[in-house]
Amino acid sequence: MTTSDSARDSRPSPEPSRRQFLRGAGATSLIAPAALGAMASPAPAAPPAAAPARAAGSGRPILIKNGCVLSLDRQVGDFESADVLVQGARIAAVRPGISAPDAEVIDASMAIVMPGFVDSHRHMWEGILRNILPDGSLGDYFRDITGKLATVYTPQDVYAGNLVSMLGALDSGVTTVLDWSHIQNTPEHSDAAIQALRDSQGRAVFAYGSPQLGPPNRWWEERRGHKYPEDIRRLRKQYFASADQLVTLALAGVAFPTEVAVSSWRAARDVGARITVHVGVGQFGKRGDVQKLGEAGALKADTTYIHACTLSDAEWNRTRAATTLGISVRCLRNKIHEFKKQGIAIPAAHRSRAEFADAASCRWIGSPG
Ligand SMILES: [Zn+2]
Repeated sequence: MTTSDSARDSRPSPEPSRRQFLRGAGATSLIAPAALGAMASPAPAAPPAAAPARAAGSGRPILIKNGCVLSLDRQVGDFESADVLVQGARIAAVRPGISAPDAEVIDASMAIVMPGFVDSHRHMWEGILRNILPDGSLGDYFRDITGKLATVYTPQDVYAGNLVSMLGALDSGVTTVLDWSHIQNTPEHSDAAIQALRDSQGRAVFAYGSPQLGPPNRWWEERRGHKYPEDIRRLRKQYFASADQLVTLALAGVAFPTEVAVSSWRAARDVGARITVHVGVGQFGKRGDVQKLGEAGALKADTTYIHACTLSDAEWNRTRAATTLGISVRCLRNKIHEFKKQGIAIPAAHRSRAEFADAASCRWIGSPG
C-alpha cells in the first residue's frame, strides 16, 4: 500500500491529493497545547542510524476552508464555519475569511476540522485483529488477545497491525496518534512497529511498551527474548535521535508493581522520553498504584494518565503535576472497563487536561480504530 501510495504521490496533480491534505493536517498537531506536542521530547545529540521520516509536502501553505472548526481552545475559539491556515509545520491562523493566495486550498465545508487534535492512545498492533472480539469483556480481552494471540505475534504481525491501524487513522482524518505498543516481545518487534509507523507517513508517537509473555506475564522476572525497558536506549539512538521527525518516542509504562514501574520510568527519563500509563482501569484501578508511585516520588509532569476512571481523590491530587489525561471514548461507549457505571469520572478541576483516545481495535465494530 505504501509503495502504490508513494507512486501516486509522485505524479503531478493540479489538485491537492488526499495524502497531501493529510500531511498538511498532520502538521497542525504541532501546536497542540498538550500531550503529543509535548511527547516530542528532548533528544540526545547523537545522529540517527536511519534517516528520520519527514513530511514531504509541496512547501506551499495549506488553507483548509469553510470547515466547522473546533479548536476546543477558548483563546482560539470554535466556529460553525472558518478556515485553518497551515504554514510549514505550524498552524498560522484559525479564523473565518483567511486570504492566502499562494496556498493549496482544501474545501472542508462538509467536515469538522480540529486543529491540534491528537489521538492519545491506540494499541496499533491490534489492527489485524480488528473486530475479532466485539462483545468481549476486559477479562475476555486479557484471556484471548494479550493472553494468547499476543504471545505468538511475530514482528511481521506487528508491522501489519501498525501499518493498517495508522493508515486507517489517516483515512478517517486522524493524523496524529500515540501508538501504545505493548507488544515488544523482542527488539525486532520494536523495529517492525517503528518501521510501519514511518512507512505510513502519518505523525505518530511510538510508545515503547512491555512484552506479552502470556499469563501471568511477569516480564520483569522472565527474559525470553525481550529487552524491556532497557532497549529504549537503543531505540532513542537508532531511531529517535532527532525530535524533528514525524515519528517520536515515549514509554508505554506500567503502574504495577511499584518498584518495576519506578525502574522502567527512570529508564525513559534517562533518554528524555515522556511516559504514558494505564491507571484507574476497573478493579485494577483501585489497587492504589498511583498513590504508591506518588509516595515513591515517580509522578512528574511528563506523564499522561490513560483511562483514570477509578482513581481515589488522593490519587487525583497526586496526578496534578501532569498536563495530560487520556480518555478512551469508545471504551466508554462500549460499556467496558466498568466505565458504564462510572462514566467519565474526571473531577471538574482536572478536566482541562483531558484528551481523547481510541484504544483497542480488536473490540470495535465498524469504523477504523
Ligand atoms: Zn490501552
